[in-house]
Amino acid sequence: MQTVLDLHQRPLRSLRVSVTDRCNLRCSYCMPEEEYTWLERDHLLRFGQLTEVVRAATLVGTRRVRLTGGEPLLRRELWRLVEQLAALELEDLALTTNGVHLAQQVETLAQAGLDRVTISLDTLRPERFRKLTRRDALEPTLAGIEAAVQALPGRVKINTVLMAGVNDDEVHDLLAWAQDLGCELRFIEYMDVEGATRWSASRVLPASELLRRLDQAHGPVEAAETSTSAPARRYRLGSGQTFGVVASTTAPFCGSCDRARLTADGHLFTCLYGAEGLDLGAPLRAGEGAPELARRIRTAWAARTDRGAEERLARPDREASLTEAHTLRSAPQREMHTKGG
Ligand code: SF4
Repeated sequence: MQTVLDLHQRPLRSLRVSVTDRCNLRCSYCMPEEEYTWLERDHLLRFGQLTEVVRAATLVGTRRVRLTGGEPLLRRELWRLVEQLAALELEDLALTTNGVHLAQQVETLAQAGLDRVTISLDTLRPERFRKLTRRDALEPTLAGIEAAVQALPGRVKINTVLMAGVNDDEVHDLLAWAQDLGCELRFIEYMDVEGATRWSASRVLPASELLRRLDQAHGPVEAAETSTSAPARRYRLGSGQTFGVVASTTAPFCGSCDRARLTADGHLFTCLYGAEGLDLGAPLRAGEGAPELARRIRTAWAARTDRGAEERLARPDREASLTEAHTLRSAPQREMHTKGG
């Protein structure tokens, strides 16, 4: 294996694999529209093909894989893909899910070789959940989280997108709830990515403000051990409880970004803000295997200069520069729910 570096000397260590662009929720910050253009069903890569792309990525240094969507648990028998990927002996095989179908699947996924799971949850209030996701699914989500804690003890994280004036009054409740359950919570700033067509800077709760509030309510917040490539910085409250903060909007971490994203139809994006992906689906269908695909990935990554979030932070017209929904309709691979968040 020969590790590939991009033009800013960043390795390709992690790959987010979106297994479907469909989702059973309609969160306002991710899928705010009523209608979407979906990927062509017969273009979706089969599990064997997805595994071949991951194998190719391991040939250029990838060690961590996260399965995403849309909602990955909508893909039938996802455990079969987990089993195939687990055989590649990655350092880490994780899943991000909204948790709605997790209770029925997490044990099988753990048995198949899943290492960790991250579940998105932005509120503990049923009415607010319904408003934020436009679906009535808090109960199954909470059941899924509890089942995950049983099946993968110590390996469950919760992701909460904080929005000012929407759910930032639940920070303390969410922390107390996570502490009781024994999972670590990560607060994520609301991001102006493709698809978040109703993003507004006034809805962003900056990480610095969150930490100030926590400091005020719980006493001094200390920095805790943080992995250098993880997007979250970890902190510890006086009680000993740790939590993470992903300041993707106010303090982007492009400088250490080592991840690429694969869409369910085989487009590889080297940045969340990338406008065009490298099509690996066509060569796969034409019979190329991991060594040839690895050469394609190596060439794309070696030319990478992406710093998407940093560039957006520098733009004075940040809100005006959001891509409009009708543009995304003709380029569904650019949608965040297609790229895997
Ligand atoms: S914006 Fe692009 S380069 Fe920056 S952290 Fe996100 S994916 Fe990486």
